[in-house]
Amino acid sequence: MKEGAKSDVRVSGGITRRGLLKWTGLTAIGTAALGTTGCAGFDQTDLAETGEGTEEDPGTWIPCNCWADCGSKGFNKALVKNGEVVRMGTDQSHDDSPDCPQLRACARGRALRGMIFGADRIKYPMKRKNWQPGGGENAHGELRGKDEWERISWDEALDLIAGEIKRVLDTYGNEGILLPGGVPQRTGDFDIGRMMYMMGGCLEQTGSVSSGAWTEIKNRIGLAEDVNDRMDLRSSELIVLWASNPAWSRAGVQTYDYMQCKAAGTKFISVDVNYNSTARVLTDEFIGIRPGTDCAMMLAMCYVLLTQDNPEKDPLIDWDFLERCCIGFDADHMPEGADPKDNFFDYVLGTYDKTPKTPAWASEICGTPAESIEKLALEVARTERCAIIMSPAPARTSSGSQMCQALMCLGAMAGLIGKPGCCAACDKGHAWELGGYSTIFKGGGMLGEPRNGTLGSIEYIPNPLNDKKVDLNEMWTSIVYDQEYTGLDGNKYKNPTHLIYDRHENFLNQGAGLMLGIEAYRKVDTVIAQNLVMTTTCKYADIVLPVSSMWERFGDFTVAYREQMIWTSQVCDPLFECKSDPEIALELADRLGVDKNVLRPVSEKQNVVNMVAAAQVSANADDTWENLVSITEEDLAELGVEGTPQEGRIPILDFKRQGIYTIERSEGDGRNYVPMEAFRKDPENNPVKSESGKMEFYCQAFVDAVDNWGFAEVPPIAKYIPAVEGYEDTFSNWETKEKGEYPFQIISWHILRHSHSTFADVPNLREAFDHPLYMNPVDAEQLGLETGETVLITSKWGKCLRPLMVIDTIMPGVLAMGQGAWVEIDEETGIDMAGSMNVLCGPKLTPTGYQSYNSTIVRVDKWDGEPLQPDYLWEAREVFEEE
Ligand code: SF4
Repeated sequence: MKEGAKSDVRVSGGITRRGLLKWTGLTAIGTAALGTTGCAGFDQTDLAETGEGTEEDPGTWIPCNCWADCGSKGFNKALVKNGEVVRMGTDQSHDDSPDCPQLRACARGRALRGMIFGADRIKYPMKRKNWQPGGGENAHGELRGKDEWERISWDEALDLIAGEIKRVLDTYGNEGILLPGGVPQRTGDFDIGRMMYMMGGCLEQTGSVSSGAWTEIKNRIGLAEDVNDRMDLRSSELIVLWASNPAWSRAGVQTYDYMQCKAAGTKFISVDVNYNSTARVLTDEFIGIRPGTDCAMMLAMCYVLLTQDNPEKDPLIDWDFLERCCIGFDADHMPEGADPKDNFFDYVLGTYDKTPKTPAWASEICGTPAESIEKLALEVARTERCAIIMSPAPARTSSGSQMCQALMCLGAMAGLIGKPGCCAACDKGHAWELGGYSTIFKGGGMLGEPRNGTLGSIEYIPNPLNDKKVDLNEMWTSIVYDQEYTGLDGNKYKNPTHLIYDRHENFLNQGAGLMLGIEAYRKVDTVIAQNLVMTTTCKYADIVLPVSSMWERFGDFTVAYREQMIWTSQVCDPLFECKSDPEIALELADRLGVDKNVLRPVSEKQNVVNMVAAAQVSANADDTWENLVSITEEDLAELGVEGTPQEGRIPILDFKRQGIYTIERSEGDGRNYVPMEAFRKDPENNPVKSESGKMEFYCQAFVDAVDNWGFAEVPPIAKYIPAVEGYEDTFSNWETKEKGEYPFQIISWHILRHSHSTFADVPNLREAFDHPLYMNPVDAEQLGLETGETVLITSKWGKCLRPLMVIDTIMPGVLAMGQGAWVEIDEETGIDMAGSMNVLCGPKLTPTGYQSYNSTIVRVDKWDGEPLQPDYLWEAREVFEEE
């Protein structure tokens, strides 16, 4: 590791470089200070009690941003003392209680210093030595990821970028420029996109990375991703957590909320490939299942209900709900034009295909004992208040949409829809969407129109090339193989990408088919990336721009769960030569003749204050709203912004200092939420979003939509279709059960060291939370492998190395690895040393274009080469040291 401590130089903002780089080298001390979840291990001691307030500078706690898209939300604050960030803290705005928990940050938020002041921070604009503008051989694309860097001035960098954008637009049209990633258009990270839209558009991606099949199917079948209010779930008698491990994947209050259910008497059952950390804390029973086979188990559960239902003595099916609220479940309730034989019940019973979907049938596929499937089905149906809550993970396979529909069918049959304490739902987990409608509204954000129309949103600018968006499974193949791709309008297009501009994302690392992505990057004329740290995308770029973090800007305003709003502030001045994303876009706009007043009509500061000013809070349970903040003329003058005085709940400057506002909750507070309650009561007047307004066991609209995309075909009902690279594909001969070239299934987990690929570079997180390949002892013994050995994992898409961890909690035949590691390719062997899952996952086509990385098959071999060193000892991707 490079020696970090060079001098006692104070960088701008009074941050002592020596002290901060020393932090990046912390190992044991840093590790000991980390908790394991958002709720665990946090020291709540007051600053005054630590004695830290007795020194010359008592220090100031500043609410600071964690921008990770982790699925949860914690509140972070930094203690700045004598010009240094000396400590991280979290929510202490009120006493912690089960009804009103503090919004505690997870270990990653508390390790943010390691990223912001890390050695791999991009300090200056830089250019790859052997790249020249103009495309062709002079670009030396083959050297991307291997070349040396030279430092250049901002003017030189921006002139080169503007010149390349003009050249590509003139030569290849707007389609010649590809901007991977999403486009919220809020904090400025996406201003390069707004600029391109104003110039006629650019290519962008479509397709879900996160929610898998749920994104496109949920409304069409009439089952939105929506979970009951956390207070309501305390009334559940049984919660089945299906493929769900919030202690790792949603580090924060969600597991704590489930613990309140447990305390209230709820029984928990976990259905998962692994007896995971959440299951160990909560569950009374664990049911193992192979990846990608969830649909088969659900169908078998429906079979049990259908064959054992006795309306008089043992009612298992909610016939009244099916009759009033659903279509397509049997031959008598089919939509017009559908073949009556193509109904769900006859498929489950095997009436026409002669394959009853019995627990024994499912057991062969799922690896779950038939008795366990039957017992679970009966327990779910016989429990008055039962909730099945699933993560999006099982929907990330090529046949994920059938699984989504099967969950809907099971939930509808077992009477789990629209009742207190009940649900059958995918918890998509993004913090602000958990638990139904909001009790708070941020002004001007992505989550809907501001309620105060006079303040708020920056006008949305659409991309004129929206229809030509390229699906993320075709993005790299269409470049590498010169293949046509299918646009959103269903037409086929060539992909003429000559310039890739990565605006503060890391999609190359975070998308499936990483090895193809590197080939695509090496094929185009020019790659530009802007970021805080030397991400994979930056590593494979030609020009890299240093971006200031959210700690170095005026701040940000965001909703956490449905009960908190967070206003983070500036912790220090921009480090080194960093500029903010909006500043970079404005300087490029100057060079490209784009109207800066339209691109960014208000300053970053004004935009944040506008959002705060327009924020609204639910005044009580009857849907009346009031302003969150009161504002005076003096406040506006102190903030240095324009605006209008207003009345609100709290003074704006108090909110800014505190950084968090929480709506106090208590049981019976009238803010309860049960999804689809109104629909259950009166489906005619409260229809769901499906074409029929009912829940569709038979869904022609989804079949038509999938046909329109043209990637794959789907049946109108939930049928079990083996996933591409699923369990069945691990065999060369299914009948004789002879294993094939890739005998293991592998899935990717959220692990506590990363939030996707954010934080993957922070050494003390690497040390605190390891990143091995997990394997069952039965498999390890067969292969002659032991914990700690380095193994080579090979798929048809790529190869990587990992240390092995043998655990008896994971299903035999199933492997797992954390997602998000930054790929480190050994250029001689082509092997990734870092264990990046997307090296192993291919860009497989799926019905609606989502990514299917939870159906991947691999082989594992003992590694004869040098064993891997722990990655917290690896050299940081530091390009230039501070001058
Ligand atoms: S990673 Fe998520 S839970 Fe952790 S501090 Fe950041 S926002 Fe909060």
